[in-house]
Amino acid sequence: MHFYSTKHQSPNVDLQTAVMRGLPPDNGLYMPEKIRPFTPDFFERIKNMSFPEMSFELAHTLLEGTIEKADLQRIVEEAVNFDAPVVELGDNYYCLELFHGPSAAFKDFGARFMAKLMGHFVQNSQQKLYILVATSGDTGGAVAQGFLGTPGIEVIILYPSQKISDLQEKQLTTLGQNITALEIQGTFDDCQKLVKTAFLDEEVRSQLNISSANSINLARLIPQAFYYIYAYSQLMDKGKEVVMCVPSGNFGNLTAGLIAKQMGLPVHHFVAANNANDVFTNYHQTGSFQPRPSVKTYSNAMDVGNPSNFQRIMDLYDNDVMAVKQDMAAYSFSDETTLAAIKEVYAKYNYVVCPHTAVGYLGIQQYFEKHGSDALGVFLGTAHPAKFLDIVNPALNIEVDIPKNLQKLIAREKVAHLMTTEYGAFKDFLLQLV
Ligand SMILES: *Cc1c(COP(=O)(O)O)cnc(C)c1O
Repeated sequence: MHFYSTKHQSPNVDLQTAVMRGLPPDNGLYMPEKIRPFTPDFFERIKNMSFPEMSFELAHTLLEGTIEKADLQRIVEEAVNFDAPVVELGDNYYCLELFHGPSAAFKDFGARFMAKLMGHFVQNSQQKLYILVATSGDTGGAVAQGFLGTPGIEVIILYPSQKISDLQEKQLTTLGQNITALEIQGTFDDCQKLVKTAFLDEEVRSQLNISSANSINLARLIPQAFYYIYAYSQLMDKGKEVVMCVPSGNFGNLTAGLIAKQMGLPVHHFVAANNANDVFTNYHQTGSFQPRPSVKTYSNAMDVGNPSNFQRIMDLYDNDVMAVKQDMAAYSFSDETTLAAIKEVYAKYNYVVCPHTAVGYLGIQQYFEKHGSDALGVFLGTAHPAKFLDIVNPALNIEVDIPKNLQKLIAREKVAHLMTTEYGAFKDFLLQLV
């Protein structure tokens, strides 16, 4: 099995090349040549499987022939080492809690799997590998934790100055060891552009062995399909249709769900939920995709004006907006509505959601309003509310409990290099590393 670029202007590659290179040279995104379906008995068999076991089955189905089965099994077991429970709120609302990993956000799944997979690929290499990551908030923390202490790998994280929460900043800037943070005086899109430019810069590439760790990397995408299957397995006994709402920014999470659906996961409908950064919602309504600079919202990990994975969704659906509409709805919500939703979920269900998860809840609510509420509405709990205390505490007039792994970071000291959005400065920084 090989992987092609969504732009079809560069050669197909094997798994190692796709994962280590991150981006194909034609600036497209890698996709698996063939999305193999599960065997018909798969959904019968997963009833008796653990989360890591069904994750391995999915990974093996998708990646068969690209990596030794025993290696893949070990990588999946090391990566999927925390739970993702589906919690029932009431009135057919369910939250799939994806925040029980080390950085308390769903990106831990992708980051851990990618770190283990890359660690496997570099284990016999003499050359150091540099991972370049642009983060709008949560990616950096998850990637930093995933790669911390991995031999032969250095991680360089770019984040938009003053546009992420204090706790998110601590997660990227306090670990030390093989993790370096660059504080960029711009937006997430600026950070992403710097990384993309470096990948297309022959001078940088000839001197440094670089790879990416954003949701554009295939190794991030694949493990994000695992928990859709697991969520479904927790609900299948109820014998009802399942609708899944994904609070979306760069659309990696939703793309992974769509891949799981193509493999046979019987999700009735997906809902893409956006904040004020609504280019996908607009595309859904008009059929025209118009990227825009991002605007700052409470759900800052979704503040993306030009979602990279749109290319992959177009690839999965042959650029056909009618086909996209058949599988998913798309809605956008303002900060005011999001804040009201945080309060509503707490008042009605005694449950605390982060601003991103609140946007997911709103997506299910809107879906129920339009299509009736007979289905089970699962919204993805993408981060622990304690990562957004400045929003959640005053909204609810409570003190949200902080998970232990986050508590430890608060006392640590931030270390970051402040930088402008000018590519020259970033390039100089990279070249002085060798
Ligand atoms: C990254 C992130 C999102 C958006 O996920 P995408 O895959 O970029 O669409 C949503 N919520 C949280 C908490 C995140 O960290």
